[in-house]
Amino acid sequence: MTVKRILVNRPKSEIDDTATMTADSGNARPVASSTAVPPVPTPMPPPDQPEGASGPADAEFSDHVSEPPPYPKPKLRIEIRDLNHEGADVFLGAVNVSAVIQQAVGNVQRFLYGRNAWYADPETHITPTRSVTVILRDMDGVAYTTGSELDGDHKEIHFSLRYIAGIKPRKERATSEIAGVLTHELVHCYQWDGRGTCPGGLVEGIADWVRLKCALSPPHWKREPAAVGRWDGGYQHTAYFLDYLERRFGDGTVRRINEKLRLEHYDGAAFWPGLLGHKVEELWEDYADAVKHDRPEASGTVSQ
Ligand SMILES: [Zn+2]
Repeated sequence: MTVKRILVNRPKSEIDDTATMTADSGNARPVASSTAVPPVPTPMPPPDQPEGASGPADAEFSDHVSEPPPYPKPKLRIEIRDLNHEGADVFLGAVNVSAVIQQAVGNVQRFLYGRNAWYADPETHITPTRSVTVILRDMDGVAYTTGSELDGDHKEIHFSLRYIAGIKPRKERATSEIAGVLTHELVHCYQWDGRGTCPGGLVEGIADWVRLKCALSPPHWKREPAAVGRWDGGYQHTAYFLDYLERRFGDGTVRRINEKLRLEHYDGAAFWPGLLGHKVEELWEDYADAVKHDRPEASGTVSQ
């Protein structure tokens, strides 16, 4: 299977030397060249020189725009392993690929680490994530995130082309669903997990809480604690519970949960009383009661 790579945020010098790859059972390998002659890149066209533009004037202007970015920007890449797949068409037609990934990274950083949209919360410490590669390929399921073969600071998000092709109704849902799944998976690229000891339900709940806060929740999500029964039911069930905690204990509660998962191994008996002064089972009961009686702290409108 031929693999095409579209590169986001890479200097042209890196793009030029991108090799053609093949994929067999998910493992991409460079194709061996039949000759020893190195490939010659197509020369760049001469730069445009608009009338009236001059070097010194541009340099003068750039002196005023030297604010550093608030969060570290990871290297972002996308790899579409089958451009002939219907899901590739849907993906490229529904989103501006560079914008949707960059915006999702910004949202994840802001909700997990930000005091506001521009500045990090000094109480938090962001993960050392250096790059994220989104890989679109034909596979079962929806998506998953993993560390790359290089090391854990380089993340790969595998996103199913089959799933993307099946989003319905396509016209109304594709853009939001793609952004929502990418946002969820990007949380996994940036969240702490108690050095591997955090319950899966909490890991998934935090990911969907960010998705919820970004107003990217699918139409079928709703608060239903009685039907699920556990605080760590995961996904949207835990996400709505975290949303309740955020309202009850104040803005930044989920950031504090995430930061605590950076500092220590997860021990449920100590974790929640240490952070919020209550056992998590008590908090869940309070939440279930608030939902049952439709109290505002349970059903408050999610802020954008
Ligand atoms: Zn997940």
